[in-house]
Amino acid sequence: MTKLEVQGNATNGQRCDSAGSGPTVRALYDHYVVPTYARLGVVFTRGQGSYLFDERGRRYLDLGGGIAVNALGHAHPAMVQALERQARQLIHCSNYYYTEPQGQLARELVVRTGPGKVFFCNSGAEANEGLFKLARKFGHAEGRFEILTTYQSFHGRTLAGISATGQDKVKQGFEPMVPGFRHVPYNDLAAVERALSPATVAVLIEGVQGEGGVNVASPDYLLGLRRLCDEHKLLLLMDEVQCGYFRTGRFLSWQRILEGVPGADGFLPDGVAMAKALGGGFPIGAFWVRDAYADLLGPGSHGTTFGGTPLACAVALEVLRVVEGEGLAAHARRVGELLLAGLQDLVARYPRVLASARGLGLMLGLQLQPEVPSLSGEPGKSPAARLTTMLLESGLLVIPAGTHVIRLLPALNLGEDEAREGLQLLDRTLRQLG
Ligand SMILES: *Cc1c(COP(=O)(O)O)cnc(C)c1O
Repeated sequence: MTKLEVQGNATNGQRCDSAGSGPTVRALYDHYVVPTYARLGVVFTRGQGSYLFDERGRRYLDLGGGIAVNALGHAHPAMVQALERQARQLIHCSNYYYTEPQGQLARELVVRTGPGKVFFCNSGAEANEGLFKLARKFGHAEGRFEILTTYQSFHGRTLAGISATGQDKVKQGFEPMVPGFRHVPYNDLAAVERALSPATVAVLIEGVQGEGGVNVASPDYLLGLRRLCDEHKLLLLMDEVQCGYFRTGRFLSWQRILEGVPGADGFLPDGVAMAKALGGGFPIGAFWVRDAYADLLGPGSHGTTFGGTPLACAVALEVLRVVEGEGLAAHARRVGELLLAGLQDLVARYPRVLASARGLGLMLGLQLQPEVPSLSGEPGKSPAARLTTMLLESGLLVIPAGTHVIRLLPALNLGEDEAREGLQLLDRTLRQLG
């Protein structure tokens, strides 16, 4: 184990050196990392497939997937090789110039989304930020700027991102919000219609709400929004940062939700935000914009230093090649069904703890009962956070959503045996809870 030394401490050059154990790393965080996260008490040192290993060598089954990021799991050899190969050739050179991987990746995303163009950035928040700017540009001449989003949505942590997010907890302490965002209930078309004002220019929704607790848009909602946006000359924007990228069993969530639905052929939003799994763990974000509006953001109107580096794009191209080469969309659908059936079985067997299970593909949510005595009692810790901690202790990683949902967002290549192992670990912990 490595010994971590802290150098250049302004006050006393102190060393934190308890032989590279957890407390050492935790002490570094305590002293030097802004405490924006209530972290779980584990230090991970490596990963392999759907497993992570802590500094003591203990193995954990990772069904959180780094919050829907690690599409191929950890340390996938093809991804490592692509990183290495491209790093030797060219890592970064600026968007003042052309590089082949960016052009190739843009084409691949357009082919899978619809006729249009792509802008590359580095995160989901930035992808949404680009869509906000696109919408403002679109409505500018008419003085329209207002974007409607939904309650329980999540759109990132920038100022416009928290303004767009329909949850008070992300806004508190940071007011005033960026003007021009209003929220309406999810899956409620009439609410959108009622909320329209002369200043409205766009509607932004997640195909499946992630942070909001895994809520799937209905086909009628999607088709109705498209119609409404056409009627009122609004942009229909979709945040596919979490639910996109094959997670639901198709490239983008609406492609799955609208499968076989009459009248859904040709459904296409006007702008789409992507990030999370796009680089399989290498940071990259993107927004796609439909053909009709693809040149609204012209030279000088938007930019980013790091967006679409040859390294990020080469890695993303390789992740895409593996996902499709190995048929992981269909696989995610199959393993997702296995997991969902297992979760529903757990709901039936532990009705005092679990209320319901839901989701699409490998984006699954387990809803806890409003009152679970065995999960309360720790002040400031929600039942979902408490259960997440207990599962960690049993060797299983999941992601809480809000106070009463835990999410499974595993790698798209999660094995069926691994899915069953996850269900067993859940079962064991739930049994303890009675
Ligand atoms: C994670 C997430 C974001 C923000 O992405 P970052 O990369 O953290 O900025 C935005 N929208 C949705 C739906 C997300 O799940």
